[in-house]
Amino acid sequence: MSNLVGIDLGTTYSAIAHLDATGRPVMLVNSQGDNITPSVVLFDDQGNVIVGKTAQRVYGEDSKCFGRFKRVMGEEKEYEAFGEKYNATSLSSFVLKKLKDDAQTQIGEISEAVVTIPANYGNKAREATLAAANASGLSIKYIINEPTAAALYYAYSSGEELNGTYAIYDLGGGTFDISIIEIKGSDIEVINTDGVTLLGGDDFDEKLIEIVRSKWKDQVGEDLEPEDFTKNDAEEQKKILSEKEKTSIKIATTKGRHKIEISRAEFEDAISTLIAKSEMTCENAIDEANLSITDINEVILVGGSTRMPCIQSSVEKIFKKVPKSVGNPDEAVALGAALYVAYKADPAKLNPLQKQALSKVNIAEVTAKFFGTIILSYDDHHQKNLLKNDSLIRKGDKIPCSVTKEYQTAHDNQTAINCRVTESNIEESDPDYVHTMWEGALDLPEGRPSGQKVEVTFSYHVNQTMKCTFLDVESGRKAEIDLTAGNSNIHTDIDIDDFKVE
Ligand code: AMP
Repeated sequence: MSNLVGIDLGTTYSAIAHLDATGRPVMLVNSQGDNITPSVVLFDDQGNVIVGKTAQRVYGEDSKCFGRFKRVMGEEKEYEAFGEKYNATSLSSFVLKKLKDDAQTQIGEISEAVVTIPANYGNKAREATLAAANASGLSIKYIINEPTAAALYYAYSSGEELNGTYAIYDLGGGTFDISIIEIKGSDIEVINTDGVTLLGGDDFDEKLIEIVRSKWKDQVGEDLEPEDFTKNDAEEQKKILSEKEKTSIKIATTKGRHKIEISRAEFEDAISTLIAKSEMTCENAIDEANLSITDINEVILVGGSTRMPCIQSSVEKIFKKVPKSVGNPDEAVALGAALYVAYKADPAKLNPLQKQALSKVNIAEVTAKFFGTIILSYDDHHQKNLLKNDSLIRKGDKIPCSVTKEYQTAHDNQTAINCRVTESNIEESDPDYVHTMWEGALDLPEGRPSGQKVEVTFSYHVNQTMKCTFLDVESGRKAEIDLTAGNSNIHTDIDIDDFKVE
């Protein structure tokens, strides 16, 4: 039997689960015996890389300790420790290696894994996640959106035949996702997904720090040093406020000992604009799916931040019904990913009980962005040719999908075409407002008149990556780009085997 695992690579916590021999998705504990592992990486002066709880204890205090890097996945940001430079991809690969190594001590060699990503991740962040998984030594064929994984687990664990439209409200440490999902018995179809990349528990922690600093200043008359009330302290107090109406924080500094009192109402007031942002995103997601609130049968809560009472009331206010949770909100995504990896695996790798458990599952996903290219097009208003972004794949198109559009060369004796692959959250024609994912040139034969056919094909694969082809039909010349981790310019320079990860 093969060992198939699903991994939730989270902003604050990560988790790994597998499908056991009886076909049940089960969490795998780390070497400390915990189901979830803080996504925090500490470099020590002995050359060790420490991932998890021990690292988390000094997060915000030790300059060689890094966390929350999932928020800048695929971006240029660099982290430096003992003269070595790291990025979100390399730091994530350490987290994945820790999860992999700890899991392997329990179940043996992992043969295949699925890693989850926020539904609204751009292509760069997706590629970076795949690159991190490869660097950690995991064999990854697919990635899956976090809300889809959660829906899968919900459908699996509900024990009854589900029929209708469901909303998955996923608020974790760093990102917020809302997905509208249609479940018809064994079929799960994601019909729309929206989100805010930088909205989560981390932002709530920051707001709590702001309150403490401001109260300290009022009480003591001086600024509070960051090390006197760290991010870990803020997270702890935030969790207390999920349980109690008030928290009393004792802070001891060289200026003496003081007690700061914060009520839940004060904290909720401070984060109200962030919550309003999540509410608008929910309304937008429902509108975009051409639905109304009353069409949603159930709202399912996922992610640690949904334990906050004000989040539960906000969800209830928007959806006009009491939300449901799927067991432990921190674990639903990893458990769903464990179901997905087995669902996608070669059936020969599964035993009869596992096959039976998965016979209830069928998933269809949609794209989370618009993908297009830049063309020259006649603009009636300006009465001249202008550059325009033209979408080929639309947000919400069912995955896999392939779209071909035909364009023409604009000039006589045109010897090259500038080929661009763009990405945007909304349908956008202005090239200044889209993100260029890739740019290249296609050389054309000389001496031809304008109007030569150019076919552009974008094919979006089930593993959430895209292949783009720009074909000059007459000459057969083409420019091709496979936007997957292997061909990506996103990579990590580190060789993980050079490090001792614990
Ligand atoms: P996740 O990424 O789903 O593991 O969610 C992690 C986030 O959930 C972190 O920001 C945690 O601080 C937050 N969280 C976990 N438990 C609670 C709680 N009881 N109250 C408030 N936030 C929580």
